[in-house]
This record gives sequence, structure tokens and C-alpha cells, in this order.
Amino acid sequence: MDREAGQNGYDAAEIERKWQTIWEERGTNLFSDDDLRTAERPYYNLMMFPYPSAEGLHVGNMYAFTGADIHGRWRRMRGDDVFEPIGFDAFGIHSENFALKVGVHPMELIPRNIANFTRQLRRIGVMYDWNHTVDTTDPGYYRWTQWIFVQLFRSGLAEKREAPVNWCPSCKTVLANEQVIAGACERCGTPVEQRLLSQWFFRITEYAQRLLDNLAWIDWSDTTKRAQDNWIGRSEGADIHFPIARRRVADDRHEAAEVHEEPHRITVFTTRPDTIFGATFMVLAPEHPRVDEVTTDDRRAEVEAYRSAAAAMDLVSRKKADKQKSGVFTGGYCVNPATGREIPIWIADYVLMEYGTGAIMAVPGHDERDFEFATRFGLPITRVIAESAAAPDAPLEQAYAGPGVLVNSGEFDGTEATAAVASIVDWLESRNLAVARTNYRLHDWCISRQRYWGPPIPIIYCDACGAVPVPESDLPVLLPYAPDFRPDESGISPLARVESWYRVPCPACGGDARRETDVSDTFLDSAWYFLRYPSTGTNDALLDSALTAKWLPVDMYIGGEEHAVLHLLYSRFITMALHDAGVLPFEEPYTRFRKHGLLIKDGAKMSKSRGNVVIPDAYIEEWGADCFRMYLMFLGPYQEGGDFRDEGLQGVSRFLYRLWETAAPVDRLGSAALTGYLEQRLHATIRKVTEDIESLHYNTAIAALMEYLNVVREGGRVANRAEVEPLVPLVAPFAPHIAEELWQRLGHPTSLFSSPSWPAFDPEKATADVVELVVQVNGRVRSRMAVPRGTSEDQARTAAIADENVARYTDGASVRKVVFVPDRLINLVVG
Ligand SMILES: [Zn+2]
Ligand SMILES: [Zn+2]
Repeated sequence: MDREAGQNGYDAAEIERKWQTIWEERGTNLFSDDDLRTAERPYYNLMMFPYPSAEGLHVGNMYAFTGADIHGRWRRMRGDDVFEPIGFDAFGIHSENFALKVGVHPMELIPRNIANFTRQLRRIGVMYDWNHTVDTTDPGYYRWTQWIFVQLFRSGLAEKREAPVNWCPSCKTVLANEQVIAGACERCGTPVEQRLLSQWFFRITEYAQRLLDNLAWIDWSDTTKRAQDNWIGRSEGADIHFPIARRRVADDRHEAAEVHEEPHRITVFTTRPDTIFGATFMVLAPEHPRVDEVTTDDRRAEVEAYRSAAAAMDLVSRKKADKQKSGVFTGGYCVNPATGREIPIWIADYVLMEYGTGAIMAVPGHDERDFEFATRFGLPITRVIAESAAAPDAPLEQAYAGPGVLVNSGEFDGTEATAAVASIVDWLESRNLAVARTNYRLHDWCISRQRYWGPPIPIIYCDACGAVPVPESDLPVLLPYAPDFRPDESGISPLARVESWYRVPCPACGGDARRETDVSDTFLDSAWYFLRYPSTGTNDALLDSALTAKWLPVDMYIGGEEHAVLHLLYSRFITMALHDAGVLPFEEPYTRFRKHGLLIKDGAKMSKSRGNVVIPDAYIEEWGADCFRMYLMFLGPYQEGGDFRDEGLQGVSRFLYRLWETAAPVDRLGSAALTGYLEQRLHATIRKVTEDIESLHYNTAIAALMEYLNVVREGGRVANRAEVEPLVPLVAPFAPHIAEELWQRLGHPTSLFSSPSWPAFDPEKATADVVELVVQVNGRVRSRMAVPRGTSEDQARTAAIADENVARYTDGASVRKVVFVPDRLINLVVG
């Protein structure tokens, strides 16, 4: 610590305690429900609520919250009524796994974690409204999580169906694709398997196009929008039908298959109908329903073995592009509808049922993956696109993905490939062999979890009535206390062991029925929490509609990019679905979203295994919350992140000590008016800090504050009140405690944050290109003058002689010599 500066009486811990107590006593950051109703300039400043881990607040949380709080404080100082709530995302597998590890029931563990988080959150000086908090595990909250499920069920957006899902054998639960990283469970790192289970899904795919369209107008970080765009993955193309070549399938099974109502054909979705003439074989997903039908007897054993092996793999590793291609021939053939030729049908695990139709037409001449497959298994490769029509038979060394004209494509030869797409689809459509179609990569949201620590899905199964939603008046369905909450291998929720809980009468017919024993995904809890904050005082409805209309959608949301395709996409979907159900007057939840960057430590990613995780408490203890906040923001551009180094705190600490040294002894401040160079510097600083805070360039705003303070203190001069006083509000968003203390010492009875206190700048003064010219007489500094940049020696000399401080030392003596350094210095040699 800067021990030397410590002599000047700045006691961060004392000041921070004092102001946190005052804010709390005065309710500086709290809104009553009346305040919420009457606010004139409502501004909803949201940050991603934390999961209250047992380890306590992570520096990443603090980085996110501080940056968001600076934005909120700044808006408030400009006159907005800023609502800045916080809550706890406390259900879910993280909490449950930890509870299992330490052998404490989550119902005991979570309240402890929340209490610890609350203490930490109060310490960091973020202006949370503790009157409006949410805890997703509170029955008063999850009642409405369940209510939302019921609304979606009624709108047909929630359905239960059997599906291949990712299964973590260690966590013993289903994972969304987004929760599988490189084939392993995101939480525990165990390789993920595939299981066929009956699951609840939200049909987010119904909203794919709207989710995509609205990206055009919501004001979000570009990278986040791009991530959603890619995730939704719209592609234009066609379903093309390939008739199954019957004569190849000559066994009894084939006779049985004849009774199927569907025509004997396999449909593929392709975004490249222009390459249809080059489709030389077909590949089905091992799970494709037509596999049995096309497989010949002599191939059956091998096909079955391959299917079993594929079933044991997870979906994510199957998608890996760099994986060595494997596959087996089924013995069956189908007809390429463009060429009329029979092509062999294979199965391979790189084709997935979940995308398109679970079948692909393989075009090895123009698709790298198909080329690799064809090369490995000796399948024919045909070129159908050439850079020029002149060389249609040039051999292919690798798949050709470039532009060109069609060759070996019948009547379409010579047509430019992209231009041929529409005419080839038309041609096939006219023969009932294709249908133009748009496809999305987005799949439905698997919402059920076979775990304990979540809100029970509010559905009751009755033999007579089927799946019946729990009547709204019976919500919440309380999560029962289950001493044994351990998940097991069966894939059945631990709640299925609590018979007294799941046996209930059917709400429709009164007969014997049983509750759904799965709980919902944590991402459902967090998909709507921001809707609840203004309405936490409302018990009989999801929302207070007047408060919702006034405060929502969220004006500014700041959070991590890692949530781009999970939380941020799910909450958009839930908002749209509730809008369509007439619950919300808007369909996009967050007017602005800005992602913040990531912190690293001494050049390396922070992780528990490296032992380099920054624990905020110890730093705050040593340096104070103001210093820690400011240092976090000084590390780099907020939206890009930075490298945390312990020694870096010194610089920020020194700045705060100097600020204290300059402004705290208010009686010693000079009373001279603000003029000249310092005035220009002040206006330029206000302007820079204002603009930088607005664009979240906090690091450069802080640098400007430091620079300005250096100018004020230059040469150990006594600072004037007019130079120092406006600096205090400029520092306030970053270091609110010291700013409040100095503001009070400067004689202001009210908080910097309770009335508009942000200083204005004069644009003319802020942009004037003025420099400070040091004036010496016989080599000693006697004055400083603000002069326009580029002032000539003659002009400078005239001005210097007229300066009264200078005149005192020249005393009428003639100037014998002038030393002039343009824009820097003038030395008058007299005598
Ligand atoms: Zn796991
Ligand atoms: Zn019934």
C-alpha cells in the first residue's frame, strides 16, 4: 500500500463504512412502490444476477457489477430515476452438486450462501435496491416460474416427447447442447453420453424467425447479436426426395415395409440444390427411421453394431469436424432425382437426426466432409461446378467450394451455380421431387431435469385425462423436503421417491393421478427474473401491469458474453411468448445490451486449479472498495476485459490519496476563479469523462481524471476550489464513497446521487486548442499562461511581459534575450 500517502488521513475503510451506513439509513438507493409509480425519468439498469456459490462473490461478478453500477450512477447523476436491483439465481445443478459434495441439504446451504453474498454485495458499494430482490428458490418466486410453464403449455409451446439427449453420467442429468463443451459436461468435465429419454421441450423453434428478425433493431453488442444469429442458423434450401430403389431390397422386411403409408423415399434438406447432379451417395443418421428398411440382410449385423456404437456417443463429439469419418454401407440404394442414377445409402455418425431430416445427399466434389468420406470408402466423386465451363472433367484433388458454372448437370450446364439454385428447385418441384424450404439450426429447448433442486414442473398425469396442468390457484407446487436428493443412474428424478408428494387427485376428473417428478431447467428461472423486480410487491399476479409498463423493457443490461445463446436467447423467447399470451406489452426484454470483457490474472485465465482466482474480499479489505472498483475499471476497455495484477492497484490507490490530499483540507483551497489553461483542461476533462462513461470506456475516463489531477497539482501549487470541486462528481461513479465524503466536506448537505450533480462542460472551452506556456525570468518559473497552440515567439513575448507576475520580476528592465520553445516555454533573460 502507499504508506507514505497513508499519512494524509485518508481512511478508506472508515469512509466506506460511514457512507454505506448513511445510504442505508437514508434509503438513498431504495425505491418504495410509490417511488416506482411516481418516478419521472425511469431508467432500468440491470445486471445479471449471480448464482450464490459457497465460495462467495467472484471477482468476475464484481467486475460485471461495478461496470454496470458506474453506468447506473452516472445516469442517476444526470437526473434519471435509476432502478438497480439484484437477486439470486439459486436453483440448479451447481448448488445441488455442491450440497452433495459437502453433505448439506440445499435447503440449508442456499440461505447461508445468500446471506454471505448479500454481505459481500453490500460491501462493494453498488447502489442496489434491497427493497426489490428476487430469490429463484423462494416459493413466492417459483410460483410464477411454474405459472409461466402453464401458460406455455396452454399455448402449445410446451410438449413432452422422446428425444435423444446428452446425458452426463457423473451429474446424472440431461444437458442442453449448449452445456456440452468439446464432448464433455460443462460442469464436471465428464464425457457426455447420449440417451433416449422422454423430456419436456419448449418450442423455441417456432420463434426462430422472429428471434432472428428482431436482431436487426435491438441495440446490442454486435458480437452478441452475431452469436445469436449463428446459433439460430437460418439457411435457405430445399427438401429433395430420393426414391428408394426397391429392387435392391429383396427380403421379407421389405414386404412388411410396403404397407407404410409414406412413399418409399428419403428426404434430405440441402442448402445447395445446385449441386444435386453431384450427389453420388446418401448418408443417413444411424437413428434414421428408414435404416431398417433399406438395410439388406447381408449388411444387417454390421449396421446394427455401428448403430449401437453411435448411440453411446454424445451429440457434440459427433459434430466435431476434425473427427475421423466412420460409417457403414446399408446395402440399399436410392435414386438421385436429377440424374436418375442409383446411389448407395450409408449410415454415419456425423449425420444427426436433429438437423434437417437426418439424411444428407453427399456431394463429395464440393463438400469437404463428403470428399473425405468418399475418399476413405472409395465412393465416386463427380465435379458439377467448374471455374469455367471449358474444363468440366478437371480432376478434383479436394472438394471445390468456390464459385463457378455448372458442369455434368444436364440441361443446367453452363449456368452460374448460385443462379441455378432456384431453377433446379423449380424443375424438381414440377416433378414433385422437391419443396423449397427454410431451415434453422436452432432446436427446441429441453426444459426438464431429472434432478431435485429446481421448481417442480406443474403437470399432473392422469390415466383418463393425460397431462393436466396444475390449476393456477394451486400454484406453487412446493418442492418437498427430500432428505435423499441424490440423483441416480435410472434417469428418474429423486422426487419420484417421495410418494406422499407425487400421488395427487387429478385436477380434471378427481381420479388417482401423479405429479410430474422432473424439475425445470435453471435457465427458465433466469429467463424472466428481470420482469419480476419492479413487481416484487405484487403477490397475486406475475406482474403489476402499471409498473411493468413504466419500467420495462430494461433500458440497459450488462453481462457476460457466455450467456449469448443461453440466458439471453431464452429470455427473449419467454418475453415473446408472454407477449403473445397477452401478458406483456413488448416482445423484446432488453432495449440495450452490452457485453463486458473477461478478466485474466497475470496473463493467465483464472481458475481454481491454477490457484489464481482473485478473491475480492481480501483486496477490498486492504485497498478499500473504491480503489478496487476503480482498479477493475482501469485494467482495460470494459467491453474487452483486462489483466489483473496486484501491483496495478498502487497507481489507482495513489490517485485516490492525492485526490484526498488535494480536496479534503477544504479550508486550504484557494478561492481564485477558474481561468485560462486550467479552465480549458477542466472542460475538456468533463467532456472526455462524460463521453467515455457513456460509451463504457471507463479506463480512458479514469486516465483523464488522473491527468487532470496532475495538472491541478503541478509543481506543488495550492489548488483552487473551482478547479477541484467539479472533479469530485466526475470521480463519483467509480469511487462513490470518497466522492460523497469530499462532497460533504465541500459543504454540500445532500448526496451526490440524490439530485442531478453531473457537471456540464462548455463545448467551446472543451475543444479550444490551448496549451500551457511556462514563463521563466532568468531561468526561474514565474508564471504560466494559457495561449492558443502555435503562438509565435513575438506574441508570447508580448503576453509574458504584460503578465503581472512576470512584471514583478522584470521590473521594467529590458529583455536582453528570449529562449522560446513553441507551446512549452518562454524564458526572458533580463538585467
Ligand atoms: Zn457433469
Ligand atoms: Zn383425470
